[in-house]
Amino acid sequence: MADLKVDLTAPNGKKFALPTGLFIGNEFVKSASGAKITSINPTNEEEICSVEAASPEDIDKAVAVARAALNHESWRDISATERGRLLYKLADLAEQEREVLATIETWDNGKPFGDATGDLQEVIDVLRYYAGYADKIHGQTIPTTSQKFAYTLKQPIGVCAQIIPWNYPLAMAAWKLGPALACGNTVVLKPAEQTPLSILYFADLIRKAGFPPGVVNITNGYGKDAGQALASHADVDKVAFTGSTATGKHIMKTASSNMKNITLETGGKSPLLVFEDADIDQAAKWAHAGIMSNMGQICTATSRVLVQASVYDQFVEAFVAVVRTTSKVGDPFAEDTFQGPQVTKTQYQRVLSYVESGKAEGATLATGGKPSPIGGKGYFIEPTVFTNVKPGMRIYREEVFGPFVAIAVFGDEAEAVAMANDTTYGLGAAVFSRDVERAHRVAGRIDAGMVWINSSNDSDFRVPFGGVKQSGIGRELGEAGLAAYSQIKAVHVNLGQKL
Ligand code: ADP
Repeated sequence: MADLKVDLTAPNGKKFALPTGLFIGNEFVKSASGAKITSINPTNEEEICSVEAASPEDIDKAVAVARAALNHESWRDISATERGRLLYKLADLAEQEREVLATIETWDNGKPFGDATGDLQEVIDVLRYYAGYADKIHGQTIPTTSQKFAYTLKQPIGVCAQIIPWNYPLAMAAWKLGPALACGNTVVLKPAEQTPLSILYFADLIRKAGFPPGVVNITNGYGKDAGQALASHADVDKVAFTGSTATGKHIMKTASSNMKNITLETGGKSPLLVFEDADIDQAAKWAHAGIMSNMGQICTATSRVLVQASVYDQFVEAFVAVVRTTSKVGDPFAEDTFQGPQVTKTQYQRVLSYVESGKAEGATLATGGKPSPIGGKGYFIEPTVFTNVKPGMRIYREEVFGPFVAIAVFGDEAEAVAMANDTTYGLGAAVFSRDVERAHRVAGRIDAGMVWINSSNDSDFRVPFGGVKQSGIGRELGEAGLAAYSQIKAVHVNLGQKL
């Protein structure tokens, strides 16, 4: 059967053919129910194209194919080195197709093209990083008694469901595919319904790289049916999820049906602390990058900025100046654009509703807060800064997920740490101080999975990423990311103990 495809020309003039089917067993196929997802360009609110959407029946099929691939000699018995080679090949193909992939990402998601190109570099880097690990994942020998020899094997977990968000569609897929495949698992990956397109082009590269059929399956679909079917499936061994805390909690419950292994990376309200001994100019620039990049749609965005009273006015002035001069809102394909549209109308309305909430609760709107359409279209919002925010306010406590920051004041270090930790979340945190002792002391005391000292959100694929409290369970990236996709089997060998 010929693959389902559509010929497209992107706003930047790039022409390409995009597969539109569900990618199951290395083929692009129609959904059983005929359901579709229509993808919308958030820049002008026009339709891009429609793709197949998986029903629970399609999920059953994808899981069965992934199970068969797990037990098939072409994958089960492949050498670890060869597994790594397939990942290297996939990285090479992504590198060759970087421009098309970044184009689709910008078109579908609204992120500036330069950022999408950066995301693609991350995809390539992550795949190569885990490709290198594929034949370096091994167990231990454990001395016990003279009559026992014990050793451990690191084995794949099995069929892994991977549920992906829309803010970094390809990068989040790579974070999950790299370690899963390096460890020898098979995968059914469900992209977010808001951004279903780039992963379909990428799926074709998976096939071209030479992965056996069924090792990676990509099933676009809606959360409440395809996602739910995947997270509750009795023949899925693991679910890895990135998305909102509410959905993460729901998935955790659903996954309990057959006690699936889980990795969750969920929401955040990450604090950025500016102490009076900080380099204020640098703090302002990093604080800007830490909240306004990717339209503020970053789970680790440092969306609560806490500033010591003695430098509060100085910092606010410097920060607002950086926002006004750097955060150029516009067409994501234009070179000088820093900020494109929010991904969907729902997200756009959500961010604007928090502007109303901030005003109603008495915070000071220092800049922004209004829609910023181009020719009357698009989900653009001015970068928004609220000052004089109090810990009781919703904009201080709730994740907004937009170009929206809440700035509050603290007196001393103890209050700064208490305020930083006064949240149900625990993903990232940033500390600005030139006092080495203070910076490390505070980093140690903040309840977060990641702390940046004198920067914000400069995550790195070689370093573990994840949260504590209601920001998640488990780690991705770095060597720690492998633990999420392998399990330890202990083998006890009797060396002569008689009963
Ligand atoms: P958002 O609220 O920002 O859209 P979600 O956490 O709901 O974020 O979505 C992240 C991913 O989780 C998406 O791929 C979405 O389809 C999926 N998802 C949403 N609801 C469910 C669910 N009930 N079960 C499984 N996956 C879901």
